[in-house]
Amino acid sequence: METLIERTGCPIYYGDFSCIADKCKKSCCIGWEIDIDSDTLSLYKNMEGGYSEEIKKSIKTENGTSFFALGKDERCPHLDDTGLCNIIKEYSDTALCDICRLHPRFKNFFTGYTETGLGLSCEEAARIIVNSEEPFHIIAESLYDESLTDEEKEIIEIREDIFTALTYRELKLSERLTYICREFGINIKKLNPEKYIDKLLSLERMDEEWTAILKEAGKNSFSFDILDSEALEIPFEQLSTYFIFRHFAKCLEDGDMESKIKFSVFSILFLAFLMNGKEDKEKLTEYARIFSSEVEYSEENTDKLYKIF
Ligand code: SF4
Repeated sequence: METLIERTGCPIYYGDFSCIADKCKKSCCIGWEIDIDSDTLSLYKNMEGGYSEEIKKSIKTENGTSFFALGKDERCPHLDDTGLCNIIKEYSDTALCDICRLHPRFKNFFTGYTETGLGLSCEEAARIIVNSEEPFHIIAESLYDESLTDEEKEIIEIREDIFTALTYRELKLSERLTYICREFGINIKKLNPEKYIDKLLSLERMDEEWTAILKEAGKNSFSFDILDSEALEIPFEQLSTYFIFRHFAKCLEDGDMESKIKFSVFSILFLAFLMNGKEDKEKLTEYARIFSSEVEYSEENTDKLYKIF
């Protein structure tokens, strides 16, 4: 029987990531209830003595899903006062559940080929993405292989064309985004972020800081200029390729490329809108992180946005 060799790919900056743990200001171990996968759950159930008793006590099960119940200030019960994980300290990261072990990584699955990216909701991943200088590309032995279906090959090919257009630095970024929209029959002016604040306020929100940012943005006015500014053009370009990398391949599930392009371009325009003319890379990194955490990491929210434009 022929063995299928699983190939992998990742963005150029992927290897630069490592979790900054106790130095993280917006730790992913605060505010998120973590579901525990079945293999890790049986591992925990079979452990005996020592810290395993604390682990077992911290697990709750509702509607067939087991998770770590958040403690005081919505902290993961295994996060110590210095911001380190007790499970890693006691047993190493091999004892983490899938979500904790993988975060902030995400996967794009194709037949015989899996891509892994860094999710923008993590402040260290956001810092790496925003500060990356080299034009985005995927490191993989080859993007194309006999194992891929024709549809997957086509989607990867179209996505490569989008990456090429987005990283074509002879043109201003606003021109590149407009070109891509035109190619997909999208009127970029209809994605004007000024019109969507109420929509974003109507979505599920976790952090009051996001609500305050959205309300404050009501006083801003949108201009494409910030996208082409000397300080922020490359950071915005990196964010554009990030959104395409993260979302475009989902059209394999529903056949709808247009909504993924619209969502990606809207995300960039909305971040530009939040900047309100300020060329401040650190601020952009923070806005990108919170936008991702509040909008992109909620399937319910992204699904709603895929449909509204
Ligand atoms: S948000 Fe990122 S850097 Fe911070 S604790 Fe989580 S994985 Fe580590």
